[in-house]
Amino acid sequence: MTQARTTVGIAGAGIMGRLLALRLQHAGHQVTLFDRDPIECGSAAAYTAAGMLAPYTELESAESLIYELGQRSLSLWPDIVAQLDAPEVFHSGGSLAVAHGQDAADLEHFNQLLARKLPGEPGIAFLDRQGLAELEPELAPQFGNATFLAAESWVYTDTLMAALADTLQANGALWHSQCEVSELQAKLIVSANGRHHFDWVADCRGLGAAEDLPGLRGVRGEVIEVYAPEVSISRMVRLMHPRYRLYLVPRANHHYLLGATQIESDDTSEISVRSALELLSALYAIHPAFAEARIVATRTNCRPALLDNQPLVRLEEGVLQVNGLYRHGYLLAPAMAERAQHLLDATQSSVKQAI
Ligand SMILES: Cc1cc2nc3c(=O)[nH]c(=O)nc-3n(C[C@H](O)[C@H](O)[C@H](O)COP(=O)(O)OP(=O)(O)OC[C@H]3O[C@@H](n4cnc5c(N)ncnc54)[C@H](O)[C@@H]3O)c2cc1C
Repeated sequence: MTQARTTVGIAGAGIMGRLLALRLQHAGHQVTLFDRDPIECGSAAAYTAAGMLAPYTELESAESLIYELGQRSLSLWPDIVAQLDAPEVFHSGGSLAVAHGQDAADLEHFNQLLARKLPGEPGIAFLDRQGLAELEPELAPQFGNATFLAAESWVYTDTLMAALADTLQANGALWHSQCEVSELQAKLIVSANGRHHFDWVADCRGLGAAEDLPGLRGVRGEVIEVYAPEVSISRMVRLMHPRYRLYLVPRANHHYLLGATQIESDDTSEISVRSALELLSALYAIHPAFAEARIVATRTNCRPALLDNQPLVRLEEGVLQVNGLYRHGYLLAPAMAERAQHLLDATQSSVKQAI
């Protein structure tokens, strides 16, 4: 007799919900997703993110845990991409940290931090202008040196979100889109279209879980997408600056994503004049040819963050909660999905032992 597959209901189909679903589906479980938005677009922070997978750069402001989970995720991404019919989503060209002359101390400070936290790490190279010119010729006139972080990568977020949805559905996932979830309990999801019973229930609603997760808050971020046919930069660039950290993430066909502000607020209204001025003037200083770039889009959203800015995965009254991915959703989600699966597996085997 064949054993019935474990059923899993997942509330929230942002990046965390989709990657958890993919992992559990791959392990042989029957997954069902619920999201208040359509499958192909929506309010998820995942649609605003730049998609940087930058554990080294994040060491500047984040705990070592983020670095460790980020490294684990980097090692998991190739297997994830191999399951999708979209090889172009993942980019592994590395990143460059740069600073203008007057801000050289910020880059030096970052370099010292890397040396202290990651002594002898082979994936870090300190480049002079010549070395930078070999990697990114168009940056060398503006910057006398740079720090190259070879393992850092990035994903095309919109393409990835779409590819995940396609693969999940092609492999049998059920998807309740435009379907608000109002309640989660052990083995039960209550949504706009009824009560649904599962063996396991997971809450991946990001900020939508605020009522059930005390301390969860939004941290506003703004990004600008530009089209710059006169600029050819193929790697991520992080501009060190005393007041803000600007990054530039290449997209296809001379499009670049520029971000991101970080403001303690859950306001998702349009980008402010101040943020736009700061981001765009920094962009122009990275490469003067950005002066003729076209602004294609501006986007604002809030990152789901807990008080300690650390990610959370736990079983709470029979509900698996995965949240608090803050500014690292893409960086952390593969490793968080792995941890979540281990938690569920451990629970299942302890139940079996008890029986
Ligand atoms: C400007 C900006 C830039 C960023 N850049 C990066 C980056 O470069 N790299 C990186 O790793 N991370 C980045 N992030 C962070 C990343 O976007 C988040 O950490 C990540 O999206 C969180 O994933 P999540 O799945 O938990 O939440 P979300 O992506 O927000 O998804 C939550 C989903 O739950 C659904 N939902 C909520 N409530 C309900 C409900 N009641 N019923 C049904 N569905 C519900 C929502 O519709 C949504 O689809 C950035 C974020 C911002 C805002």
